[in-house]
Amino acid sequence: MSKMEEIQKVCLNRGIIFPTAEIYSTISGFFDYGPVGTLLKRKFIDYWREFFVKSEDNILEMEGSIILPERVFEASGHLKSFVDPITQCLKCKSIQRADDLIQEKTGKFVEGKPVKELTEIINNEKIKCPRCGGPLSEVKLFNLMLKTEISPVGGQTAYLRPETAQNIFTSFQRLFRAVRSKLPFGVAQVGRSFRNEISPRHFIIRVREFNQVEIEMFYDSQKPECKKFDEIKDKKIVIFTREAQKKNLKPVKMRAEELFKKRIVPSEWLVYFMTKEFEFYKSLGIPEDCLRFREMLKEEIPHYSAGNYDLEINFEFGWKETVGNAIRTDHDLKNHMKNSGQNMTVMTDDKRKIIPWVAEPSFGIDRTIAGILLHCFVEDKKRGWNWFKFPAKITPYPVAVFPLVNKDEIPEKAREIYETLKKDFDVLYDDSGSIGRRYARADEVGTIFAVTIDYDSLDNDTCTVRHRDTTKQVRVKMKDLAPTIHKLINGEVEFEKVGNLIN
Ligand code: AMP
Repeated sequence: MSKMEEIQKVCLNRGIIFPTAEIYSTISGFFDYGPVGTLLKRKFIDYWREFFVKSEDNILEMEGSIILPERVFEASGHLKSFVDPITQCLKCKSIQRADDLIQEKTGKFVEGKPVKELTEIINNEKIKCPRCGGPLSEVKLFNLMLKTEISPVGGQTAYLRPETAQNIFTSFQRLFRAVRSKLPFGVAQVGRSFRNEISPRHFIIRVREFNQVEIEMFYDSQKPECKKFDEIKDKKIVIFTREAQKKNLKPVKMRAEELFKKRIVPSEWLVYFMTKEFEFYKSLGIPEDCLRFREMLKEEIPHYSAGNYDLEINFEFGWKETVGNAIRTDHDLKNHMKNSGQNMTVMTDDKRKIIPWVAEPSFGIDRTIAGILLHCFVEDKKRGWNWFKFPAKITPYPVAVFPLVNKDEIPEKAREIYETLKKDFDVLYDDSGSIGRRYARADEVGTIFAVTIDYDSLDNDTCTVRHRDTTKQVRVKMKDLAPTIHKLINGEVEFEKVGNLIN
């Protein structure tokens, strides 16, 4: 069993993430988050907001509708260009994504190639249906947007948005005027997106309904400087340039300033975000050697973009885009202005009427969670159970409380501590089975601090706290417990210094 399969099993058994409407098992590419998964996702979003929104003074948030009228996607280009190539088996009728199939069978990377070329490859390489070995049809394009009809009598076609970005573009003038009326300014949005993927796969990595968080950073293309660039200019990120990909060279580590000066990424804003992303993903427990930015090849670039740089995570099956970074130019605002007849221009301080340019980082939440699950999973033979080394900021339950035994005044004392800690943290209470079993259950969902109330607790108001990562234990005063855990989570104190070390 691969590590990811093992993790998937844990996710099912512990109710972390599981297939939607599983009892009917009729649709693939949809997943529900259970209690632990929901907390993990929520905390990830909070941490993301802290890192990318609250730390800035010119990025604000909005929450838009998921269903949008057809005209939005006519203007954005999705109706015409948001397509994937498909081929159908002429015998069993199963449908495959043609570029994936070719890559699997030949190792050739063909994303973005015209359908005629893909058909030729299938014929020349004699690629057959992977299900039944039957012959395959010509390659055609399939639009990935999910369609719906509005009103009881129908007639108004609409789509479930394939990205969160379009709400921000269509409401640009309102957002701009309501908040600052000054460039540069950014709008962030956390929300759901939908893509009718041809072959959903790899657990929550490619699904049909997913969670995204995007920032659209609007700036004047004649004054494209990012004010905070100096703060990050010496930081290094790993970049896999087009040239390196073509020459079969390895990705390199490069300073942010160099990346911009060499025009590998010709937008200070995008370099700024990319540098922050690199820090952010490392802080989520993903090792640096499993992260890289890949400059998209010309043929892969989406219809709206003047440059794309994917933050990729190394999964077991290979590298996968997890954050799409794009220079969207003025494509969207310009086309919405043309199609709606509404003004999308703004006046600059020096009285130029412009349509702003956009730098966009677009994060896949589910894919990030898959990366966190994979890279934080510790297969621990010594302990005898596997566990998640989630970082403190996002771990679903940072604290657990255990009464050593269920008699005398111990459960009452434990409940009391549990109620107190619950005011500040998400806390697990577990009073069944041996302490060893309870440690295992807590470790399995990434709980960092396990607090045990024992007979000494009744005498001297202290308790033991065990650390997930080292299994070391300290004896701490109960009245100091909540502030101590706060400090530990924020990395302000070392675990071994917060009380008397027991082992
Ligand atoms: P894109 O607009 O294609 O660059 O997508 C932005 C981000 O959304 C990607 O980097 C992924 O993390 C995420 N994403 C896109 N499609 C899917 C999908 N089918 N399932 C899960 N996440 C996705």
